[in-house]
Amino acid sequence: MHATATARIIDGVAVSAKIRADCKGRVERLARRGIKPGLAVVLVGSDPASAVYVRNKERACSDVGIRSFRHDFSADVDPETLVATIERLNADPGVDGILVQLPLPPHLSVARVLRTISAEKDVDGFHLYNVGGLVVGDTVFPPCTPYGVVKLLEHEGIRVEGQNVVVVGASNIVGKPMALMLMQRDATVCICHAKTRDLAQFTILADILVVAAGKPNLILPQMVKTGAVVIDVGINRLADGRLVGDVDFEGVRRKASSITPVPGGVGPMTVTMLLVNTITSAERRQAE
Ligand code: NAD
Repeated sequence: MHATATARIIDGVAVSAKIRADCKGRVERLARRGIKPGLAVVLVGSDPASAVYVRNKERACSDVGIRSFRHDFSADVDPETLVATIERLNADPGVDGILVQLPLPPHLSVARVLRTISAEKDVDGFHLYNVGGLVVGDTVFPPCTPYGVVKLLEHEGIRVEGQNVVVVGASNIVGKPMALMLMQRDATVCICHAKTRDLAQFTILADILVVAAGKPNLILPQMVKTGAVVIDVGINRLADGRLVGDVDFEGVRRKASSITPVPGGVGPMTVTMLLVNTITSAERRQAE
């Protein structure tokens, strides 16, 4: 009977390791031409989660041979100072990618900061030029988290074309670009969000369910079609310190065909795709 079946666990750490090995090869090829890719990492304020993310990104860079340049600012930094720093990094030939860690303190305009980053160095893929590229299916820097999900699906041999995909979450960073990237790959895509009425009536139709809402246990087994692929992007810290996604992992794994764990699923892929985008930028600039 189906009741005892459990899903294949998609190992984001293992897929990441394969892609990072490929990154090392690309960095070595660039080194033979005298080029060392560089990523500028801008951190504003002292949010502990942001500090952890930035440290992880720096460590990942050094593991594959990318130089990283850290620019720290206090939470009350003057917007003009921040913009001037980004403009300097735009002009710096040693910098291939510029990453401004989000969120920013409320007195800073995220839109202005992201617009200031040169589209040529926008390795997070948030500049309007790159967002537009995503809409028409022609982008150089796909945003790292949805790009990581696409790569996970590819590595697992999961077909996207013609599949019903439901994306829960419609943020500019995850949900919307995720939906566009899967639509570009000929999936039939439905986007749900906090105002969606009766979420389950949509999620139950999904052959591939991608969840990026930031709500523990939002997706329960009865909301998932038997045999669905479930990708959990959510990262939530519970009161007892545990890190969980948005999906009831233990329940849903008995119904899905494949599922990503949290941690160890999408998270490692996000950082890996940042490395990929930074190397791509260096290769493009070298080819100019
Ligand atoms: P966000 O808060 O900007 O957006 C959340 C989206 O989910 C919104 O569109 C909102 O309408 C929707 N939503 C919220 N509650 C909902 C509900 N009850 N039902 C349906 N939809 C609901 O968040 P984000 O930046 O897109 O991140 C989403 C989650 O993914 C967070 O947990 C975040 O920590 C995580 N995240 C993980 C990675 C990674 O690398 N794994 C990267 C980025 C974000």
